Amino acid sequence: MKPVPKDGVLDIAVYVPGKSRAPEGIKLHKLSSNETPLGPSPKAIEAARAAVADLAHYPDGQASELKTAIAEVYGLNTRNILCGNGSDELLGLLCQCYLAPGDEAIHTEHGFLVYEIQIQAAGATPVVAPERERTADVDAILAKVSDKTKLVFLANPNNPTGTYLPFDEIRRLHAGLPSHVILVLDAAYAEYVRRNDYGAGIELVSSADNVVMTRTFSKIYGLAGLRVGWMYGPEAIVETLDRVRGPFNLNAAAIAAGTAAIRDRAFIEEAARFNAEWLEWTTRAVEALGLSVTPSVGNFILIHFPETPGQSAADADAFLTARGFILRRVTGYGFPNALRMSIGSEEANRGLVGALAEFVKSPSS
Ligand SMILES: *Cc1c(COP(=O)(O)O)cnc(C)c1O
Repeated sequence: MKPVPKDGVLDIAVYVPGKSRAPEGIKLHKLSSNETPLGPSPKAIEAARAAVADLAHYPDGQASELKTAIAEVYGLNTRNILCGNGSDELLGLLCQCYLAPGDEAIHTEHGFLVYEIQIQAAGATPVVAPERERTADVDAILAKVSDKTKLVFLANPNNPTGTYLPFDEIRRLHAGLPSHVILVLDAAYAEYVRRNDYGAGIELVSSADNVVMTRTFSKIYGLAGLRVGWMYGPEAIVETLDRVRGPFNLNAAAIAAGTAAIRDRAFIEEAARFNAEWLEWTTRAVEALGLSVTPSVGNFILIHFPETPGQSAADADAFLTARGFILRRVTGYGFPNALRMSIGSEEANRGLVGALAEFVKSPSS
Protein backbone atom coordinates (compact mmCIF):
# COMPACT_ATOMS: atom_id res chain seq x y z
CA MET A 1 0.00 0.00 0.00
CA LYS A 2 1.41 3.37 -1.07
CA PRO A 3 0.24 6.85 -0.13
CA VAL A 4 -2.28 8.03 -2.74
CA PRO A 5 -3.32 11.68 -3.24
CA LYS A 6 -7.03 12.48 -3.27
CA ASP A 7 -8.98 12.26 -6.52
CA GLY A 8 -8.15 14.89 -9.12
CA VAL A 9 -4.70 15.87 -7.91
CA LEU A 10 -2.81 13.57 -10.27
CA ASP A 11 -4.94 14.82 -13.19
CA ILE A 12 -3.39 18.27 -12.81
CA ALA A 13 -1.12 19.33 -15.67
CA VAL A 14 1.93 20.86 -13.99
CA TYR A 15 2.16 24.65 -14.50
CA VAL A 16 5.18 25.43 -16.68
CA PRO A 17 6.52 28.92 -15.91
CA GLY A 18 8.10 31.12 -18.57
CA LYS A 19 11.69 30.14 -19.37
CA SER A 20 14.48 32.33 -18.07
CA ARG A 21 17.72 31.08 -19.58
CA ALA A 22 19.63 32.23 -22.64
CA PRO A 23 22.58 30.51 -24.28
CA GLU A 24 25.88 31.32 -22.60
CA GLY A 25 27.52 34.59 -23.58
CA ILE A 26 24.34 36.09 -25.01
CA LYS A 27 22.44 38.92 -23.36
CA LEU A 28 19.15 37.66 -21.97
CA HIS A 29 15.88 39.44 -22.61
CA LYS A 30 13.26 37.60 -20.56
CA LEU A 31 9.94 38.44 -22.17
CA SER A 32 8.17 35.28 -21.03
CA SER A 33 6.37 36.08 -17.76
CA ASN A 34 4.82 39.55 -18.22
CA GLU A 35 7.21 41.09 -15.74
CA THR A 36 7.84 44.82 -16.01
CA PRO A 37 11.10 46.00 -17.61
CA LEU A 38 11.09 49.01 -15.25
CA GLY A 39 11.48 47.11 -12.00
CA PRO A 40 9.73 48.22 -8.80
CA SER A 41 9.53 51.74 -7.40
CA PRO A 42 12.85 52.68 -5.73
CA LYS A 43 10.76 53.34 -2.61
CA ALA A 44 9.63 49.71 -2.61
CA ILE A 45 13.22 48.48 -2.89
CA GLU A 46 14.21 50.71 0.01
CA ALA A 47 11.30 49.41 2.13
CA ALA A 48 12.21 45.77 1.39
CA ARG A 49 15.83 46.47 2.38
CA ALA A 50 14.71 48.00 5.65
CA ALA A 51 12.53 44.94 6.37
CA VAL A 52 15.53 42.66 5.94
CA ALA A 53 17.13 44.31 9.00
CA ASP A 54 14.58 42.49 11.19
CA LEU A 55 14.23 38.92 9.99
CA ALA A 56 14.04 37.24 13.39
CA HIS A 57 10.48 38.39 14.05
CA TYR A 58 7.31 37.08 12.48
CA PRO A 59 5.64 39.52 10.10
CA ASP A 60 2.31 41.18 10.90
CA GLY A 61 -0.12 38.33 10.23
CA GLN A 62 -2.83 40.83 9.24
CA ALA A 63 -0.58 42.77 6.83
CA SER A 64 -2.38 45.80 8.31
CA GLU A 65 -0.02 48.39 6.89
CA LEU A 66 -0.48 47.04 3.37
CA LYS A 67 -4.25 46.73 3.70
CA THR A 68 -4.43 50.32 4.94
CA ALA A 69 -2.36 51.58 2.02
CA ILE A 70 -4.54 49.71 -0.50
CA ALA A 71 -7.72 50.95 1.21
CA GLU A 72 -6.49 54.55 1.07
CA VAL A 73 -5.40 54.44 -2.55
CA TYR A 74 -8.69 52.88 -3.74
CA GLY A 75 -11.06 54.37 -1.18
CA LEU A 76 -12.05 50.97 0.27
CA ASN A 77 -12.71 49.54 3.71
CA THR A 78 -9.86 47.35 5.04
CA ARG A 79 -12.45 44.77 6.16
CA ASN A 80 -13.11 44.01 2.50
CA ILE A 81 -9.44 43.40 1.67
CA LEU A 82 -7.43 40.20 1.98
CA CYS A 83 -3.76 40.07 1.05
CA GLY A 84 -2.14 37.00 -0.41
CA ASN A 85 1.21 35.46 -1.23
CA GLY A 86 0.65 36.54 -4.81
CA SER A 87 -2.88 36.61 -6.16
CA ASP A 88 -2.38 32.92 -7.05
CA GLU A 89 -2.75 32.13 -3.35
CA LEU A 90 -6.09 33.94 -3.23
CA LEU A 91 -7.36 32.06 -6.29
CA GLY A 92 -6.38 28.83 -4.55
CA LEU A 93 -8.09 29.85 -1.30
CA LEU A 94 -11.32 30.63 -3.15
CA CYS A 95 -11.26 27.09 -4.56
CA GLN A 96 -10.37 25.50 -1.22
CA CYS A 97 -13.16 27.34 0.60
CA TYR A 98 -15.96 27.15 -1.95
CA LEU A 99 -15.39 23.96 -3.97
CA ALA A 100 -15.95 20.36 -2.93
CA PRO A 101 -15.82 17.18 -5.02
CA GLY A 102 -18.80 17.16 -7.40
CA ASP A 103 -18.87 20.97 -7.65
CA GLU A 104 -18.08 22.78 -10.87
CA ALA A 105 -16.16 25.96 -11.58
CA ILE A 106 -16.12 27.71 -14.93
CA HIS A 107 -13.17 29.29 -16.72
CA THR A 108 -12.84 30.40 -20.33
CA GLU A 109 -11.21 28.54 -23.19
CA HIS A 110 -7.95 30.51 -23.21
CA GLY A 111 -8.13 31.56 -19.54
CA PHE A 112 -5.25 31.68 -17.07
CA LEU A 113 -4.05 28.11 -16.32
CA VAL A 114 -3.92 28.60 -12.56
CA TYR A 115 -7.75 28.43 -12.38
CA GLU A 116 -7.90 24.92 -13.76
CA ILE A 117 -5.08 23.77 -11.47
CA GLN A 118 -6.71 25.15 -8.34
CA ILE A 119 -10.17 23.84 -9.26
CA GLN A 120 -8.73 20.34 -9.71
CA ALA A 121 -6.67 20.63 -6.53
CA ALA A 122 -9.92 21.25 -4.65
CA GLY A 123 -11.31 18.02 -6.13
CA ALA A 124 -13.89 19.88 -8.21
CA THR A 125 -14.55 19.82 -11.96
CA PRO A 126 -13.29 22.57 -14.29
CA VAL A 127 -15.85 23.51 -16.96
CA VAL A 128 -14.54 25.34 -20.03
CA ALA A 129 -16.60 28.08 -21.70
CA PRO A 130 -15.63 28.66 -25.35
CA GLU A 131 -14.37 32.11 -26.37
CA ARG A 132 -15.21 34.16 -29.46
CA GLU A 133 -12.36 35.69 -31.40
CA ARG A 134 -10.02 34.94 -28.50
CA THR A 135 -12.27 36.93 -26.17
CA ALA A 136 -14.44 35.72 -23.30
CA ASP A 137 -18.08 35.27 -24.32
CA VAL A 138 -20.67 36.11 -21.67
CA ASP A 139 -23.43 34.00 -23.25
CA ALA A 140 -21.11 30.99 -23.55
CA ILE A 141 -20.16 31.32 -19.87
CA LEU A 142 -23.80 31.61 -18.78
CA ALA A 143 -24.69 28.59 -20.91
CA LYS A 144 -22.22 26.50 -18.85
CA VAL A 145 -23.79 27.36 -15.48
CA SER A 146 -25.41 24.34 -13.83
CA ASP A 147 -26.77 23.72 -10.36
CA LYS A 148 -23.30 22.43 -9.47
CA THR A 149 -21.52 25.68 -10.41
CA LYS A 150 -19.91 27.48 -7.48
CA LEU A 151 -17.28 29.77 -9.04
CA VAL A 152 -16.75 31.58 -12.34
CA PHE A 153 -13.20 32.74 -13.07
CA LEU A 154 -12.63 35.55 -15.52
CA ALA A 155 -9.30 37.24 -16.16
CA ASN A 156 -10.05 40.73 -17.45
CA PRO A 157 -7.92 41.49 -19.39
CA ASN A 158 -7.09 37.87 -20.05
CA ASN A 159 -3.63 36.31 -20.16
CA PRO A 160 -2.34 35.17 -22.69
CA THR A 161 -4.71 36.83 -25.20
CA GLY A 162 -4.62 40.41 -23.87
CA THR A 163 -8.28 40.85 -24.80
CA TYR A 164 -10.89 42.25 -22.39
CA LEU A 165 -14.61 42.57 -21.79
CA PRO A 166 -16.12 46.04 -21.35
CA PHE A 167 -17.66 46.63 -17.95
CA ASP A 168 -21.24 46.50 -19.22
CA GLU A 169 -20.53 42.93 -20.34
CA ILE A 170 -19.21 42.09 -16.86
CA ARG A 171 -22.42 43.50 -15.41
CA ARG A 172 -24.45 41.39 -17.82
CA LEU A 173 -22.47 38.30 -16.81
CA HIS A 174 -23.08 39.01 -13.14
CA ALA A 175 -26.78 39.66 -13.71
CA GLY A 176 -27.11 36.25 -15.38
CA LEU A 177 -25.45 34.27 -12.58
CA PRO A 178 -27.39 32.66 -9.72
CA SER A 179 -26.73 34.56 -6.48
CA HIS A 180 -24.86 31.65 -4.86
CA VAL A 181 -22.20 31.59 -7.62
CA ILE A 182 -19.12 33.72 -6.95
CA LEU A 183 -17.81 35.72 -9.90
CA VAL A 184 -14.02 36.05 -9.59
CA LEU A 185 -12.67 39.00 -11.57
CA ASP A 186 -8.92 38.59 -11.93
CA ALA A 187 -7.68 42.07 -12.76
CA ALA A 188 -3.93 41.34 -12.76
CA TYR A 189 -3.37 43.74 -15.68
CA ALA A 190 -5.95 46.43 -14.80
CA GLU A 191 -3.37 49.18 -14.33
CA TYR A 192 -2.29 48.85 -17.95
CA VAL A 193 -5.73 49.17 -19.54
CA ARG A 194 -6.52 52.46 -21.28
CA ARG A 195 -10.09 52.01 -22.42
CA ASN A 196 -13.05 54.12 -21.31
CA ASP A 197 -15.38 51.12 -21.24
CA TYR A 198 -13.11 49.06 -18.94
CA GLY A 199 -13.64 48.57 -15.22
CA ALA A 200 -11.60 46.29 -12.96
CA GLY A 201 -14.68 45.47 -10.88
CA ILE A 202 -14.57 47.64 -7.75
CA GLU A 203 -18.05 49.09 -8.30
CA LEU A 204 -19.56 45.66 -8.83
CA VAL A 205 -17.89 44.12 -5.76
CA SER A 206 -19.14 47.03 -3.67
CA SER A 207 -22.74 46.43 -4.68
CA ALA A 208 -22.99 42.63 -4.75
CA ASP A 209 -22.60 39.71 -2.32
CA ASN A 210 -21.09 37.33 -4.85
CA VAL A 211 -18.29 39.16 -6.69
CA VAL A 212 -14.60 39.40 -5.79
CA MET A 213 -11.74 41.13 -7.58
CA THR A 214 -8.13 39.99 -7.32
CA ARG A 215 -5.11 42.21 -8.00
CA THR A 216 -1.39 41.63 -8.06
CA PHE A 217 1.88 43.41 -7.34
CA SER A 218 3.66 41.05 -9.75
CA LYS A 219 3.02 42.97 -12.94
CA ILE A 220 3.06 46.79 -13.10
CA TYR A 221 4.40 47.08 -9.53
CA GLY A 222 7.42 44.95 -10.40
CA LEU A 223 7.33 42.80 -7.25
CA ALA A 224 6.81 39.33 -8.77
CA GLY A 225 9.78 37.99 -6.80
CA LEU A 226 8.27 38.96 -3.43
CA ARG A 227 4.80 37.49 -4.09
CA VAL A 228 2.10 40.02 -3.16
CA GLY A 229 -1.53 40.06 -4.23
CA TRP A 230 -4.83 41.21 -2.79
CA MET A 231 -8.51 40.58 -3.07
CA TYR A 232 -11.42 42.98 -2.67
CA GLY A 233 -14.63 41.21 -1.74
CA PRO A 234 -17.72 41.09 0.45
CA GLU A 235 -16.87 40.73 4.14
CA ALA A 236 -18.38 37.24 4.32
CA ILE A 237 -16.04 35.93 1.62
CA VAL A 238 -12.99 37.78 2.96
CA GLU A 239 -13.64 36.34 6.44
CA THR A 240 -14.04 32.85 5.04
CA LEU A 241 -10.70 32.89 3.23
CA ASP A 242 -9.08 34.51 6.25
CA ARG A 243 -9.81 31.35 8.29
CA VAL A 244 -8.05 29.06 5.86
CA ARG A 245 -4.96 31.05 4.83
CA GLY A 246 -1.60 30.56 6.51
CA PRO A 247 -1.37 32.86 9.54
CA PHE A 248 1.73 34.62 8.11
CA ASN A 249 1.06 34.22 4.40
CA LEU A 250 2.87 37.44 3.48
CA ASN A 251 6.48 37.87 4.49
CA ALA A 252 7.77 41.08 6.06
CA ALA A 253 9.62 42.32 2.98
CA ALA A 254 6.53 41.75 0.83
CA ILE A 255 4.32 43.75 3.20
CA ALA A 256 6.81 46.63 3.39
CA ALA A 257 7.57 46.77 -0.32
CA GLY A 258 3.92 46.44 -1.34
CA THR A 259 2.95 49.28 1.00
CA ALA A 260 5.58 51.61 -0.46
CA ALA A 261 4.88 50.53 -4.04
CA ILE A 262 1.15 51.19 -4.01
CA ARG A 263 1.65 54.67 -2.56
CA ASP A 264 4.07 55.66 -5.33
CA ARG A 265 1.39 56.62 -7.87
CA ALA A 266 3.76 58.68 -10.05
CA PHE A 267 5.92 55.62 -10.65
CA ILE A 268 2.93 53.53 -11.71
CA GLU A 269 1.57 56.23 -14.00
CA GLU A 270 4.91 56.42 -15.77
CA ALA A 271 5.05 52.61 -16.06
CA ALA A 272 1.58 52.60 -17.63
CA ARG A 273 2.54 55.38 -20.04
CA PHE A 274 5.73 53.53 -21.03
CA ASN A 275 3.77 50.35 -21.66
CA ALA A 276 1.10 52.08 -23.77
CA GLU A 277 3.80 53.55 -26.00
CA TRP A 278 5.72 50.29 -26.50
CA LEU A 279 2.65 48.08 -26.71
CA GLU A 280 1.53 50.08 -29.71
CA TRP A 281 4.99 50.30 -31.26
CA THR A 282 5.68 46.58 -30.86
CA THR A 283 2.24 45.52 -32.12
CA ARG A 284 2.65 47.61 -35.28
CA ALA A 285 6.23 46.52 -35.85
CA VAL A 286 5.37 42.81 -35.54
CA GLU A 287 2.32 43.20 -37.80
CA ALA A 288 4.50 44.99 -40.35
CA LEU A 289 6.51 41.73 -40.60
CA GLY A 290 3.36 39.98 -41.81
CA LEU A 291 2.57 38.22 -38.52
CA SER A 292 -0.82 38.57 -36.88
CA VAL A 293 -1.10 39.92 -33.35
CA THR A 294 -4.17 39.64 -31.10
CA PRO A 295 -5.05 43.22 -30.07
CA SER A 296 -3.92 43.55 -26.44
CA VAL A 297 -4.70 46.00 -23.64
CA GLY A 298 -2.14 44.42 -21.28
CA ASN A 299 1.65 44.43 -21.15
CA PHE A 300 2.09 41.55 -23.57
CA ILE A 301 1.07 40.48 -27.06
CA LEU A 302 0.12 37.15 -28.57
CA ILE A 303 1.93 36.65 -31.89
CA HIS A 304 0.54 34.08 -34.34
CA PHE A 305 2.75 32.22 -36.79
CA PRO A 306 1.94 30.64 -40.17
CA GLU A 307 1.71 26.88 -40.68
CA THR A 308 4.60 27.04 -43.19
CA PRO A 309 7.34 24.54 -42.28
CA GLY A 310 10.30 26.36 -40.75
CA GLN A 311 8.11 29.35 -39.86
CA SER A 312 6.11 27.92 -36.97
CA ALA A 313 5.97 29.21 -33.40
CA ALA A 314 8.30 26.39 -32.32
CA ASP A 315 10.81 27.41 -35.01
CA ALA A 316 10.53 31.06 -34.01
CA ASP A 317 10.99 30.12 -30.35
CA ALA A 318 14.22 28.27 -31.10
CA PHE A 319 15.48 31.07 -33.36
CA LEU A 320 14.73 33.80 -30.81
CA THR A 321 16.04 31.84 -27.81
CA ALA A 322 19.38 31.37 -29.59
CA ARG A 323 19.55 35.19 -29.80
CA GLY A 324 18.66 35.76 -26.17
CA PHE A 325 14.96 36.58 -26.58
CA ILE A 326 12.88 34.35 -24.35
CA LEU A 327 9.17 34.36 -25.23
CA ARG A 328 6.41 32.11 -23.92
CA ARG A 329 5.10 29.03 -25.70
CA VAL A 330 1.33 28.95 -25.16
CA THR A 331 0.37 25.47 -26.35
CA GLY A 332 -1.14 24.75 -22.93
CA TYR A 333 -3.46 27.72 -23.46
CA GLY A 334 -4.76 26.34 -26.75
CA PHE A 335 -2.34 28.24 -29.00
CA PRO A 336 0.14 25.69 -30.37
CA ASN A 337 1.29 28.09 -33.08
CA ALA A 338 1.66 31.35 -31.20
CA LEU A 339 4.14 32.95 -28.82
CA ARG A 340 3.38 35.43 -26.08
CA MET A 341 5.79 38.34 -25.78
CA SER A 342 5.90 40.62 -22.74
CA ILE A 343 6.55 44.27 -23.55
CA GLY A 344 10.15 44.85 -22.49
CA SER A 345 12.63 47.70 -22.39
CA GLU A 346 13.15 49.76 -25.52
CA GLU A 347 16.30 47.74 -26.22
CA ALA A 348 14.46 44.44 -25.81
CA ASN A 349 11.48 45.46 -27.96
CA ARG A 350 13.64 46.81 -30.78
CA GLY A 351 15.98 43.83 -30.55
CA LEU A 352 13.11 41.34 -30.61
CA VAL A 353 11.54 42.96 -33.67
CA GLY A 354 14.94 42.92 -35.40
CA ALA A 355 15.42 39.23 -34.63
CA LEU A 356 11.87 38.42 -35.71
CA ALA A 357 12.47 40.27 -39.00
CA GLU A 358 15.51 38.05 -39.60
CA PHE A 359 13.44 34.99 -38.73
CA VAL A 360 10.58 35.68 -41.15
CA LYS A 361 13.11 36.27 -43.96
CA SER A 362 15.04 33.10 -43.17
CA PRO A 363 14.54 30.35 -45.78
CA SER A 364 11.89 27.82 -44.71
CA SER A 365 13.46 24.47 -44.15
C1 LIG B 1 0.40 37.17 -13.65
C2 LIG B 1 -1.01 36.88 -13.38
C3 LIG B 1 -1.48 36.86 -12.07
C4 LIG B 1 -0.56 37.20 -10.93
O1 LIG B 1 -0.28 36.16 -10.12
P1 LIG B 1 0.57 36.43 -8.80
O2 LIG B 1 0.37 35.19 -8.04
O3 LIG B 1 -0.03 37.62 -8.13
O4 LIG B 1 1.99 36.67 -9.21
C5 LIG B 1 -2.81 36.58 -11.84
N1 LIG B 1 -3.66 36.38 -12.86
C6 LIG B 1 -3.25 36.44 -14.13
C7 LIG B 1 -4.23 36.26 -15.23
C8 LIG B 1 -1.91 36.67 -14.43
O5 LIG B 1 -1.49 36.70 -15.70
